[in-house]
Amino acid sequence: MLVLFALVIALKNVKAEQPQPAGPVQKDAAASVSQESSITEAVIPDSAVQPPAEKEPLRVVYVTFDDGPCTHTPQVLDILDRYGVKATFFTVGCYVEKYPEHAAEIVRRGETIGCHSYTHDYAQCYASADAFLNEVTRWEQAVTAACGAVPERECLRFPGGSRTHYADNVRDGIKDGLRQRGIHWYDWNAGDNDKWLAGNTQELPKTEYFRQSYRACMKWFDDMPEEPVILLLHETEDGTVQILPEILEDLKARGYVFRTLDQHPSWETPGT
Ligand SMILES: [Zn+2]
Repeated sequence: MLVLFALVIALKNVKAEQPQPAGPVQKDAAASVSQESSITEAVIPDSAVQPPAEKEPLRVVYVTFDDGPCTHTPQVLDILDRYGVKATFFTVGCYVEKYPEHAAEIVRRGETIGCHSYTHDYAQCYASADAFLNEVTRWEQAVTAACGAVPERECLRFPGGSRTHYADNVRDGIKDGLRQRGIHWYDWNAGDNDKWLAGNTQELPKTEYFRQSYRACMKWFDDMPEEPVILLLHETEDGTVQILPEILEDLKARGYVFRTLDQHPSWETPGT
């Protein structure tokens, strides 16, 4: 149970997404559809026409990696490419400066780069709203230097999450400042507990603990297909990188489609 309690529920109220429209209809397919419909009209009596089966909502997952870039970043990018998955990287400005080539590669591969402060130091980040917003500015400068520009849609994750008690006195001011700058912030509602090792009371090998934590978490969503999953992982954790292929395979087996947070529906509802 402790494992479950460790996971923070996302603050954002996430609306279920509508399934994407199908791709362009092939000529042959269009022809066979129109043939079928004319046959249906002509031959099948009303009593034989079944109502269409209710479609399950599209399951959407946003995979996110915090605290990089780091020495694992190239490997994480290769794994994502192998599975054709796009993810969101919440990066720390001082590490963007340390590993500018990895930050640039995140963008070059078509992943989304987001802000996770400049220092990740809670005392500095949450000293005041201005201090936090200054961290964002310094992150933007680091990303501009490494990648050429900041993303048009800027996503942010608070260090420790937006509910962290470190932000208690400055949270509202920070949020106001972020809204004014058009920056959207996202927490998470799933993860593998890779930063919460105290929950490993059975002293399992790290990878097994991460695997079990992830599975326990995803079980919540079995009966909530309409609930988008925002999955928190840390690219700095070796064990997470090791089980990443399993996680991506599992998400695919569960029928999830992968999106990045700059595609999140909340972009369409300013002020939320
Ligand atoms: Zn972090």
